Amino acid sequence: MHKHHSALGLASLNRPVQPVTLLRPHAAQRAARFFVEKFPGKPMYAVKANPTPELLEILWDSGITHYDVASIAEVRLLARTLPDATLCFMHPVKAEEAIEEAYFTHGVRTFSLDTLDELEKIVRATKGATDLNLCVRIRVSSDHSKLSLASKFGAEPDEMKALLMATRQAADALGICFHVGSQAMTPAAYGEAMERVRQAIVEAAVTVDIVDVGGGFPSTYPGMEPPPLETYFEVIHKAFESLPISYSAELWCEPGRALCAEYASVLVRVEKRRGDELYINDGAYGALFDAAHVGWRFPVKLVREDASDTRDMAFSFYGPTCDDLDHMTGPFMLPADVQAGDYIEIGMLGAYGCAMRTAFNGFGSDLKVIVEDEPMASLYLAQEERPAASNVVKL
Ligand SMILES: *Cc1c(COP(=O)(O)O)cnc(C)c1O
Repeated sequence: MHKHHSALGLASLNRPVQPVTLLRPHAAQRAARFFVEKFPGKPMYAVKANPTPELLEILWDSGITHYDVASIAEVRLLARTLPDATLCFMHPVKAEEAIEEAYFTHGVRTFSLDTLDELEKIVRATKGATDLNLCVRIRVSSDHSKLSLASKFGAEPDEMKALLMATRQAADALGICFHVGSQAMTPAAYGEAMERVRQAIVEAAVTVDIVDVGGGFPSTYPGMEPPPLETYFEVIHKAFESLPISYSAELWCEPGRALCAEYASVLVRVEKRRGDELYINDGAYGALFDAAHVGWRFPVKLVREDASDTRDMAFSFYGPTCDDLDHMTGPFMLPADVQAGDYIEIGMLGAYGCAMRTAFNGFGSDLKVIVEDEPMASLYLAQEERPAASNVVKL
């Protein structure tokens, strides 16, 4: 893969016609080391956030040994890419064939569930295996998060007793897991969820061996700057220590976004300007799904040899497809003289953005280069080490 110091080097030398993904292996490495060293338990990577094999290898080399997979294709990908990794199949609704293949072909022993039906499925598909780690997913609030995961999965608190008791019978290790929603903006999200876990354990009076606090750890975006991750870890650790669980119980988490958001950005070209609207060559069907559909604002930076001396103004973006929905409201703050032919770097697309790309309408590109500069925002750099990004304007 080609290497450049920064987006500017690439834009001025190559003038790329297609959008280019800029990869920062050092940023993914730093995030992984942070979780490995500071999370008071075992961090596993939620693969759906960004399943590219290069990233999986960086995380593995940085000490992430466990991977949260949700489909049989993810199981196979991991088995192929990181044959020594431990895989945890944490989707609470699985095909029986997928469970069977995961267990017998790929050695998966950890599964999640949120109903008795799913428990029966797992027992049948594994032919009554006695070496299973089974995690019961409890429904918790997504109130503190930017993207809800509260309606689709999770047993209600009043269903937990029967489910925990039945699962205890089938499991070698019994776990409870939850997901507070993605981009949780306060550690209280985890504190409140742990309180539900406590009540469920007390009511069911079962021995719990694993508490898995799921994903939801935030990254940083314009207008969405969370408190330091250490404060999340402290709240989780304290709540875990006070649960009525076995002394050898394990604490797990499943970060997706937090491990890979800083890993990638995308260099796009402006093809046309209409007032305060910029027509760029990537969009809702490319890496900007969240910008279009949930109004997510990503940091942006004009990438031009001679810095603009005009003031910043608010722009919205149109993507390249022929579809009106391919529109990103922003606002994205850029110098007032941006014009067709200019390049823009859009930051923090390593989580979900890059993973959700399609080739709809003949657009989409798999060009990638490695860059060595710092990501446009970071939760892992001390304030004074963060890049001076004067035109990453906070609203
Ligand atoms: C999506 C998902 C994650 C990762 O969530 P983030 O918000 O990206 O950290 C973790 N666990 C499960 C079960 C998920 O579905």
